[in-house]
Formats: sequence, C-alpha cells, structure tokens
Amino acid sequence: NMTVLDVANVLKKDVEHVFKTLEFADKNSDTVYTRDTVIHNPQIVREIVKISGCRFKLVPRPDEVVEEKENKDAVPAPPAPPEALRPRPPVVCVMGHVDHGKTTLLDALRNTSVVDQEFGGITQHIGAFEVRLRSGETVTFLDTPGHAAFSAMRARGAGATDVVVLVVAADDGVMEQTIESVRMAREADVPILVAINKIDKPGVDIQRTLRSLAQHGVVCEALGGDVQAVQVSALKKLHLDTLVEALTLQAQLMELKADPGGYVEGVVLEAQLDPRVGKQATVLVQRGTLRKGCILVAGNGWAKVRMLQSADGRPVLEAPPSSPVSVLGWRELPAAGDTVLEVDSEKRANEVMKWRHSQSMKEKQEEDSEAISEATHRAQYREALAHKRALGRMRLRPDGPRQKLIKEDTHPTLRVIVKGDVDGSVEAILDILETYDEHDRVRLDLVHYGVGHVTPNDLEIAQAFNAVVYAFNVECPPTLSVEAKKNNIPIKLHNVIYRLVDDVKEEISARIPKRQ
Ligand code: GDP
Repeated sequence: NMTVLDVANVLKKDVEHVFKTLEFADKNSDTVYTRDTVIHNPQIVREIVKISGCRFKLVPRPDEVVEEKENKDAVPAPPAPPEALRPRPPVVCVMGHVDHGKTTLLDALRNTSVVDQEFGGITQHIGAFEVRLRSGETVTFLDTPGHAAFSAMRARGAGATDVVVLVVAADDGVMEQTIESVRMAREADVPILVAINKIDKPGVDIQRTLRSLAQHGVVCEALGGDVQAVQVSALKKLHLDTLVEALTLQAQLMELKADPGGYVEGVVLEAQLDPRVGKQATVLVQRGTLRKGCILVAGNGWAKVRMLQSADGRPVLEAPPSSPVSVLGWRELPAAGDTVLEVDSEKRANEVMKWRHSQSMKEKQEEDSEAISEATHRAQYREALAHKRALGRMRLRPDGPRQKLIKEDTHPTLRVIVKGDVDGSVEAILDILETYDEHDRVRLDLVHYGVGHVTPNDLEIAQAFNAVVYAFNVECPPTLSVEAKKNNIPIKLHNVIYRLVDDVKEEISARIPKRQ
C-alpha cells in the first residue's frame, strides 16, 4: 500500500508524473488523487510502473543532485610520507584443515599472552589478541580461525592480514583445506608461515609433510625454499615462542610499517551489544594511534571513544598500529569489516552519518524499483498465462479475449525479449531500443530482459507474449531451439549489436500495416 508520493519516490519521478499516469492507470474510477492518497490496488501501481517504462532510468530529482555534488563522506588520509613510518607488528590469521589444531593453537597462544594477573587474566573474546615476547615485540592474532574469517575480511577490502599461519597436523599431512588455504593466501598475496602441529604424537613423519607441502608450491627452508616452518605442539604448548619469533622475523622481512601519527584508520573486527558494557566493537588499528576521546566513524556507526581495552581485559590508554582494542563509546554500532576513520568533531561525525544514511536510502530505493520491475514482469506473465488458458477454452474466438486483455494489441506491436552476456551489453541494447520506443506506427514493447543464456522461462514468456527473443553473445541450448521452433517462437542470436538492432528494425518494418 503506497501513497502517490511513495510511488513517485520509488520511480524517481515527480508527483506530477504519477498524477498524469494515474489518468491512464485508473481511468475508470472517480478517485481524486492527492500526494497522500494510498493506492490500494496493486494493479494500478503496476500500470503506473508500466507506463513509466520498466527500466527505471534513474533520473535523479533536483534535490538529490545537490546532495550528490557535496560529498560529505569521510575519506582516508593520503599516504604518509616515508619518514613518518615506523615498524609495526604483523597481523596474523591462522588457517588449515579441520582438526589440525587451529583452535587449540589460538587458545594456547592466547593463554601465553595473559601476563598481567592483576586484571584477573580473564581473556575476553574480542576477535583478536596480542602475544608479547620477552624482547618486547608483539604479534597480533586474529581470533577466528579458518577460511571464513579470512575471506570475510578480504571481501570487504580490509586486507587486514599480513601473514597466514598454515597449521598442518604432522600425523595427517596436507589435506583438502590445507591446499585451499594455500590457494587463498596466494590469491590475497599474503605470505605463509607453516606450523607443523601435533609433533608430540608418536611416529609422525615431518619430512613427508614438508614434501607434500612442496608439491603444492609451499617449499620450506628445510627443502631449500623460502617458507619458514616451525614444529609445534599446540596441545603440549611446545615451541610456541619459536613460532611467535618466526612471525616477528617474517614481519621484519616484509618491512611492515605504519604512521603512528595523524588520523586513525582501522577496521572493525567485531561489533556487538554487550549486556554489561553496552555497544562494543573491536577495532584493529592500521594507522595512527587510537586514544580516549577520538571521534570515529565506521560504516553506519560512530563513536566518541570512552574506553579502550585489550583482549586480556586491561584498560589501555592508547592503541598504536596493528593493535586490536575493544572500543566503548559507540552511539551507533558499526558492522564487522567496516572501515574505521577518525574525524575532527562530533558535528563532522553526524554529517558523515547523515550523508551515508541518505546514500543507503538511495540504494534501497533502487533495489525497491528493481523489485517492482521484476514483480511487474511476473504479473504480466501470469496475466498472459491466464489469458492463454482462457484462449484454450474458447478456441472458436481466439482473438476476442486477447484484445480485451492486452489493449495495445489494437496497435501493431513488436514485443521483444533481450538476453545478453553481461549487464553492459544488455544495457547498451536496451538503450538503443529505447530510441525506437515511440515509433509512430509500430510499438516496440520490451517484455523481458536479462543476463545469461536463453532459458525455458524466456521461451514461456515469449510464447505468452508472442515475443521475439533477441540473444546477444549468448547461446540457446539445442533442446530449447527445437522447442522454440515447434512453438513458432523466433529466437535470434547475434554477436554484433548493430546487426541485432538492424534485425529489430526489419521486424518493425514487417509489422507496419500495409496501406489499403
Ligand atoms: P581445528 O579444527 O583446526 O580448530 O582443530 P582443534 O584445535 O579443534 O583440534 C582438533 C583436535 O586435535 C583436538 O582434539 C585437539 O585436542 C587435538 N590437537 C590439537 N593440537 C594438538 C597437538 O599439538 N597434539 C595433539 N596430540 N593433539 C592436538
């Protein structure tokens, strides 16, 4: 149930346009429409959509254009000058086959990180923790093992991981998810450090594991390659120090650096409503130094930092690059994966929130109009099917009900379905076809379009609407061709857009009524 104004908003047209279309769409009623009139009949909404053209060329209204011109979003600062860069600890993600000991390893490492008993040593799960060596160096571990966490962070472009620790159980060797992890690390261009686990088990064959890793392109130092491998037992807590040291060495080799000054940048690792402390989010700092009082924006959330806490529950005063901290003080919670940016003032944060809100509303509207467009097609299709069935019952007068149902039938019409290989080609073809839309003698009616091969569904629609199927750079499965021929549905395959368009023109010409 939408009001006239809602319909206008969804269609991105002005209210006048909707009033005008209502003259056609609801010509049989006496309703006096105002902008707040609720349109109860979905059929009328569909008619409006149809008359407005189903493609929703998104012509922004004047007030939206103004908004777009003034981009109020927060953006990352330009790259820091080299002299401002300081070494930073590595951020590590643990991956490997199931049951090879990822969780046990993280637990063991997390427990070694609890040095300060004063705070009860209760580790909180905040999505990451730091392990500090006696030398003072630290390594940050992302707390959720496995593919999902790694890809989630990557998918959002966060690129938070510097090194992948590939856990391989020595008794089991290289398995499916080991190989998968190697592939993912490679794709993300993240170096691997191998942790050969479960060396406490009797009779494990470490050489065999090293050799099969080499077969998958991970050649460890022992075999002359450049990948570090450390033998550990997560269960017995053996050689965990060596593992962490190897990671700091890896960080040095990679010359991991960041500017600890300037505006804070980071990524949200986790965000939740904690029953004790309220809105809490873990931020992995990637640049700058996060302190109490900082104003942050992240996704649709923002905070004035009230308190920072490390994973072992200690309140901390500041969080330099590569450190994960639990942040309190959010007015609105962000989501995991959101980029965190520091801004100058609360006023600025509010401005950014408002801008982002308006942007997401716009996206939602676009989704809505797409949904309506699809629904319209489906409704037309159902209508046509019903019509077809009606025809089946009244064989003697096939033209009678048809004309009632599809009014345009009084006007010669070419109905087309357009399929193409990619969005871009379909759009291009529709753009060209649209210029023929107002042909004076023959109407061109686009009944359906989409990306991909010709499908049985396309044929059904084509048959129901008496439409010609135009397929650009896609195929029609042979069984469908046969089916189409049987039912007299023309399918036209093209690889050159202008040929396709010429073909449409010919079909249009063929439908121009002959002068008597
Ligand atoms: P994940 O699926 O990779 O997270 O594996 P888990 O950490 O859950 O470990 C799977 C099983 O292997 C558990 O029963 C662990 O106790 C066991 N395990 C993990 N590490 C070791 C180890 O170093 N030695 C031995 N003997 N068992 C281990």
